[in-house]
Amino acid sequence: MAKIGFIGLGNMGGPMAENLLKAGHDVTVFDLNTEAVKNLEGLGARSASNLQTLAQDKEFIVTMLPASQHVKNVYLSDEGLIHTLSAECVVIDSSTIDAATAKLVAQQLGERGVQFVDAPVSGGVGGAKAGTLTFIVGGEQKTFSAVEPILSAMGKNIFHAGDHGAGQVAKICNNMLLSILMVGTSEALQMAIDNGLDPKVMSDIMLKSSGRNWTLELYNPCPGVMDNVPSSNQYQGGFMVDLMKKDLGLAMETATHSSSSTPMGALAQSLYTLHSQHGYGKQDFSSIFTMFENKK
Ligand code: NAD
Repeated sequence: MAKIGFIGLGNMGGPMAENLLKAGHDVTVFDLNTEAVKNLEGLGARSASNLQTLAQDKEFIVTMLPASQHVKNVYLSDEGLIHTLSAECVVIDSSTIDAATAKLVAQQLGERGVQFVDAPVSGGVGGAKAGTLTFIVGGEQKTFSAVEPILSAMGKNIFHAGDHGAGQVAKICNNMLLSILMVGTSEALQMAIDNGLDPKVMSDIMLKSSGRNWTLELYNPCPGVMDNVPSSNQYQGGFMVDLMKKDLGLAMETATHSSSSTPMGALAQSLYTLHSQHGYGKQDFSSIFTMFENKK
């Protein structure tokens, strides 16, 4: 049983912290959203009123925050954890952020003797709830070995991608592909509907054919085809369009930096930006399906 401080109890962080509690860890939580904190208290977590209190006597800190600026604030700002964490504490950041920020936080914490890994996740809210997330870890081997038992309470597959930042690069490559698959699946399903086919039948056909992919298997974007996914719940919950837009921005920055050609990723970024501009930023990313709806 470890003493863990958990920061960021949103769609992903809430169920992840719950799984740490279920595994018997001593978890103290912090979030700006007091409702989210109360919810975790109800499940047996302790709560801290600020970052400094949260950091006291912890063996591990886990953060699950929206974007790079939140991670920088929580660790490196004047009120940040860097001023409070002891060298015995190991830091796990599971937010999806740019690799440069992950490396900066790793370096600055490292100068104070605090070990850090970037450990972004794949598997969505369903995976967070079921404790079956995939963790993609960047950091030193000895830190990877130290965090593996903690991550295994929240996930099923834990990969060591390489040094600091490698977890974030791998995550961004994966999410760029996911966005392309979601757009492609959406346009294929809509074309089938436009030609009189039933989207459920079409999905079953593609699942047994060469178009098979993760979105069809677990996250069908067409309402009514699959239960318990955001498309059958007015696209609420899940992974917000604005977070996918953020990830595609990170992917394009990474591609520029490495002179990689990513035309499909660039198109997906444009489509998700447009979808967000049309007012769907807070909906789940599978709502891109509605962009292809044939209203005639
Ligand atoms: P979310 O917006 O639901 O949750 C973020 C939480 O962080 C909120 O509760 C917010 O109040 C809290 N927060 C923000 N700033 C804070 C601060 N300074 N101190 C304390 N709490 C703060 O987001 P999410 O969907 O849980 O995603 C979190 C991260 O996980 C993102 O980086 C996202 O890209 C990544 N991710 C999400 C999914 C998904 O399916 N939702 C899947 C994989 C990865």
